[in-house]
Amino acid sequence: MNRLEGKAVLVTGGSRGIGAAVALRLAEEGADIALTYQHGAERATKVVEQIKAIGRRALAVQADSAVPAALLAAVDETAETFGALDILVNNAGVFPTGPLEEIGPTEIDRTLAVNVRAPFMASQAAVRHMGREGRVISIGSNVAERAVFPGLALYSMSKTALIGMTKGLARELGPRGITVNLVHPGPTDTDSNPAHGPNAAAITGFTALGRYAEAAEIAATVAHLASSDGQYITGAVIAVDGGFTA
Ligand code: NDP
Repeated sequence: MNRLEGKAVLVTGGSRGIGAAVALRLAEEGADIALTYQHGAERATKVVEQIKAIGRRALAVQADSAVPAALLAAVDETAETFGALDILVNNAGVFPTGPLEEIGPTEIDRTLAVNVRAPFMASQAAVRHMGREGRVISIGSNVAERAVFPGLALYSMSKTALIGMTKGLARELGPRGITVNLVHPGPTDTDSNPAHGPNAAAITGFTALGRYAEAAEIAATVAHLASSDGQYITGAVIAVDGGFTA
């Protein structure tokens, strides 16, 4: 399917996990892809090579989402390189866990900078480049709706902010033909939540389907929202969580 032929995309945190799967899926559907990463230059380069191998343009930009200047430069570099920016996927995220008493201000600030401020500022910058049919798609988390374990308050709080951002931006950008949506993955097999990690059995037990998602299963919903098939969906929070919040 070439539902995204000619579209220009920026995926934050596209070197691994869900972000890499999204980058590859959107490229398979015809889009040119820029991706950011923080440390993983080698893995980012590998994703870029995979995208080029299927005939699309691709670039990787080192940009810590916690540093506004770096993030905004990545947005502008995407638009300059491809001559457009049609789709932003706010994916980069950090996953802090731990008892309330042990979480200090540095960790709180870092989490809010990466998980909240960065999606907001990247969206602000990206929509300046978007015409009608623009797309802002963010990756939240199922634990914004159901914080099943102790120790998730900071992460859940940060992801819950994306619900408000998504609904607010959908209202603001709807008249310009830009849709804004939020995908809530459930447990997804990545480096930050491996399907065979120490907590995996307990986490799996919370799903109705009794298994982790593959990153490609999250990417499939992002592709739907990005394409014209998703053109009447905006302001939505879509769980792709195997029934975790059912
Ligand atoms: P991974 O840890 O597998 O990958 C994280 C990606 O984000 C990497 O590409 C990493 O780059 C990048 N990244 C992390 N911090 C920054 C930063 N400060 N600036 C730029 N890039 C950064 O994560 P997942 O794929 O598991 O998670 C992706 C998103 O999905 C996150 O928002 C997460 O909260 C959410 N999510 C994940 C779930 C899961 O079960 N896996 C469940 C629900 C939501 P680098 O390689 O350079 O480190």
